[in-house]
Amino acid sequence: MSRSFNFCSGPAALPEAVLKKAQSELLDWHGAGVSVMEMSHRSSEFTSILESAKTRLIRLLDIPSNYEVLFVQGGASTLFAQIPANFIADHTSACYLDTGAWSAKAIKEAKKYTNVVVSGSTKDKNYTTVPAWDSLNLDENAAYLHLTPNETIGGVEFDDLPETDLPIIADLSSTILSRSIDVSKYGMIYAGAQKNVGPAGVVICIVRKDLLERCDNDRLPSTWSFANLAKNNSMINTPPTFAIYLADLVFEWLEGQGGVEAIEKVNEAKAERLYRAIDESKLYSNPIELKYRSRMNVPFVLADESLESLFLQESEEAGLKTLAGHRSVGGMRASIYNAMPMEGVDALIKFMQDFEMRHY
Ligand code: PMP
Repeated sequence: MSRSFNFCSGPAALPEAVLKKAQSELLDWHGAGVSVMEMSHRSSEFTSILESAKTRLIRLLDIPSNYEVLFVQGGASTLFAQIPANFIADHTSACYLDTGAWSAKAIKEAKKYTNVVVSGSTKDKNYTTVPAWDSLNLDENAAYLHLTPNETIGGVEFDDLPETDLPIIADLSSTILSRSIDVSKYGMIYAGAQKNVGPAGVVICIVRKDLLERCDNDRLPSTWSFANLAKNNSMINTPPTFAIYLADLVFEWLEGQGGVEAIEKVNEAKAERLYRAIDESKLYSNPIELKYRSRMNVPFVLADESLESLFLQESEEAGLKTLAGHRSVGGMRASIYNAMPMEGVDALIKFMQDFEMRHY
């Protein structure tokens, strides 16, 4: 068996130790006589897994007690609609920042439910930067402000938040657990699992409890209501049990690495090394304004586009997997989430330098 270094943006690489542990428990979980995939979600065994995942996440992110942790289905894309459906209530608008392809998708869905105020956009700058906070057009009567602090496709990331009294709702799909965040600054955080949390199939939601009062259970589909999910401990219906189990193992692994602050340092070092190699080369370049370069998703283009397919072919042969950029933008992209070790980044840099020497 030989495992590649996998640079996929999601579903992304999982820690090998987690996969091995899941393998060792696959047929008989802790003496239950069945796999996690086969046990009732109402059983005491599965309930203990769900509680463990929740408790570890609360510890890892230092989530205050006035927040609910929910495990939601449908992918982050479903949340794009679910969020306005739950939180518009008596409001007549919602504010959105447009910083890339994923914000744009969130805006498109929200428009089906309410008036969207695009409070700031960098579309005219090809999404290579972030709007200046003092230039934002915020409607202080809006239901919330939605933003996407890491644009997985464009490779733009920001850390600070605009000043506003609006509840901030953040799509942290590609950020969660990669750097420390102050949860208390957000009304809600959500993140598809398939990057830094586990396999696809579950979305992590962290919602401030007072916002749940806005959810209209008479009007919302039962499985869409965040209030209903909170009341039923994320088990209105059968939850994605195996995905939640794997998430618990990933959280356990992350605790073993020293938690979010420790992995953040490694992530900083990995990104710094890769961007330096890109900046020092004549063949590769990254267009994003320096201070907004994503630590998780590193897109780059080749000065000679005709070399792209050869780059992808040779990198694949060298055991470096899934380096093609998103189908909408082309070029290359290396996603280097928590599970990508420094050795993987070093192997990529070595390959890139060697490729440049041989072909350019
Ligand atoms: N938001 C961001 C930032 C993403 O990167 C993605 C997926 N790559 C999504 C939302 C959509 O996630 P899903 O495929 O789970 O709907």
